Amino acid sequence: MRVITTIEEMQDAILHAKKGGQSIGYVPTMGFLHEGHLSLMEKARGENDIVVISIFVNPLQFGPTEDLSSYPRDFERDKELSMQKKVDYIFYPSVEEMYPHPSSVTVKVNARTDVLCGKSRPGHFDGVATVLTKLFHIIQPEKAYFGTKDAQQVAVVEGLVHDFHFPIEIIPVETVRETDGLAKSSRNVNLQTEEREQAPILYQSLLRAKEAIIAGERDPQKVVALITEMVTEKTDGKIDYIEVYSYPMLREMIKLNGKFIIAMAVKFSKARLIDNIILEINEK
Ligand code: AMP
Repeated sequence: MRVITTIEEMQDAILHAKKGGQSIGYVPTMGFLHEGHLSLMEKARGENDIVVISIFVNPLQFGPTEDLSSYPRDFERDKELSMQKKVDYIFYPSVEEMYPHPSSVTVKVNARTDVLCGKSRPGHFDGVATVLTKLFHIIQPEKAYFGTKDAQQVAVVEGLVHDFHFPIEIIPVETVRETDGLAKSSRNVNLQTEEREQAPILYQSLLRAKEAIIAGERDPQKVVALITEMVTEKTDGKIDYIEVYSYPMLREMIKLNGKFIIAMAVKFSKARLIDNIILEINEK
């Protein structure tokens, strides 16, 4: 496994792999790797000749009051885990390497960002789309792997790849959870002890909503109310949003039918957690 910190060296390695006819699978991350990242890496390993991961905490996708400076980092541990997963290259550029001067061009996402994290984190998906445009050009993968924990990100990236004609297949990977149901996240280490005990309520409330839907509930507002009540009563977290939309278009629904997402973001003292489930009903 090689760690590469410059764009030029990364491009050389990619050129070499392409000349040899090798396929490239890519996993973008912000590091502080956990089993969620590792499952993306495993899937990439099984489907490609070369696996590249990037570790880059992208300042462009953090708002001015967000947790850029407290975002957890541990490169030595990440390196060890990547080696275990038989990654070929870690692309680990500095902020100066990626953004040496103020950008003359950035990407603006127009669709599917007026809801969920797009609404509560203005500019976030523009930052994600801009960095991925750069990274996709540098790494030129045939396949790129994304977790559905960040379901809106998957929808936005699919739009980016489609609209900008990247010859890349986006592979969505299911959310990996702790045994108590909490979605694995690098940010979980920033939860206080009591908050960590409360955090599984998020997924439990999504499962309660699922049960209600299986029992016949079709009103999205009632589903939201049920989750809101459970999270408010059983956690100290502050609800950022709890919303239900069609998926992947993220349109409002009057009555649940077809494929839809129930998504939430809850702010604890030093960590904002997100989670979602995607369900499907097919009724005439
Ligand atoms: P991040 O480092 O948080 O930017 O995440 C990098 C990639 O890992 C993104 O595609 C995430 O959706 C994915 N990911 C994060 N957490 C999980 C998880 N618990 N299960 C599966 N994928 C995840």
